[in-house]
Amino acid sequence: MTETYDITIIGGGPVGMFAAFYAGMRNARTQLVESLDDLGGQVNALYPEKTILDVAGFPAIQGRDLIAAQRQQLAQFPLTIKTHQPVTNVEAQAEGFQITTPAGTTQTRTVIIAVGNGAFQPRPLAVPNAAELVASGQLRYSVPDREAFRGKRVLVAGGGDSAIDQALMLEPVAASVTLVHRRNQFRGLEHMVDLLHQSTVKVQTPYLIRNVTVAADQSLNVSLKQVGATEEQTLNVDTLLVSYGFTSDYHVIEGWDLQVARERRLIAVDSTMTTNVPGVYAIGDGVTYPGKQPLIATGYGEAPLAVHGIMDRFFPERRGPIHSTSLHRPTPHQ
Ligand SMILES: Cc1cc2nc3c(=O)[nH]c(=O)nc-3n(C[C@H](O)[C@H](O)[C@H](O)COP(=O)(O)OP(=O)(O)OC[C@H]3O[C@@H](n4cnc5c(N)ncnc54)[C@H](O)[C@@H]3O)c2cc1C
Repeated sequence: MTETYDITIIGGGPVGMFAAFYAGMRNARTQLVESLDDLGGQVNALYPEKTILDVAGFPAIQGRDLIAAQRQQLAQFPLTIKTHQPVTNVEAQAEGFQITTPAGTTQTRTVIIAVGNGAFQPRPLAVPNAAELVASGQLRYSVPDREAFRGKRVLVAGGGDSAIDQALMLEPVAASVTLVHRRNQFRGLEHMVDLLHQSTVKVQTPYLIRNVTVAADQSLNVSLKQVGATEEQTLNVDTLLVSYGFTSDYHVIEGWDLQVARERRLIAVDSTMTTNVPGVYAIGDGVTYPGKQPLIATGYGEAPLAVHGIMDRFFPERRGPIHSTSLHRPTPHQ
């Protein structure tokens, strides 16, 4: 049976997450579709350790904690949340829209686009056989499940917060962890670097990965070149975890059948977050209007405008209390 929604929110960054929460407040049948493995957008992918100072109500909050709190807020409502599903097409139908992801198609009456700067992709390891190594599970770009690394000799590559985080996260389950970075200094927070040096993680700097070959016993021989020198050496490991950050690609939405009006690459909206296509709204970093600031706080303000706009225009018969949480008593389901 075709899944049908009142609202489809494309993009599970902080702004899309808040829009999904707000759609829950209005009892809208809602799906939130995110291309990454995890919700949280730029905050989760780029700066989970940063202390954010400009979110109302929090004098200071770490990115990771903000997203965890939003996750809790979302769990109050029976929303459909889909991760690891890039929306590859949005197509107008006689009534509503068809949403396509690699998992299939769903129908929706309205759409809120909250794609920020576009779909994130992990920055890949530049070796010719990277795709084969990913397919065999020997090269990974994230740690959705630590158990996949249990008992393995792991080489983590990268120098930012997430590389250090991942090395420390795997230390208790892996047989050994080596962290390779092309500089002697790490970009991670000082506290995390201290923890790294106190751990059993072997740190090897300044080295670059030159190539990776699969040995007869299926282990990996990783050739490393010392930066600024001619020395090369080979490490034999079971799994390679590359944490070189993310690139964002806005072109995905340019390939959709649905074409919304844009100014440069940003989606043009009016003061109600409406695009030029009836039923399609847009919020967050991916939109523009006079005075727009790409901030979490402004995106949070845009989310209720889009949701109320949709409910008032497309579902007027459901109109209920619109500004008092106390009149709407959500039942926690987790
Ligand atoms: C280093 C850094 C520090 C920052 N510090 C602050 C700060 O202190 N305070 C502040 O207010 N703001 C800060 N910002 C800006 C803030 O992160 C953004 O304003 C905010 O993340 C915008 O949220 P969003 O949900 O609109 O977009 P994003 O966070 O970009 O999320 C968009 C989501 O949409 C997903 N997506 C994209 N295309 C598709 C698709 N086709 N299908 C499915 N999903 C898709 C993406 O994977 C992503 O998860 C900072 C930004 C950076 C880079």
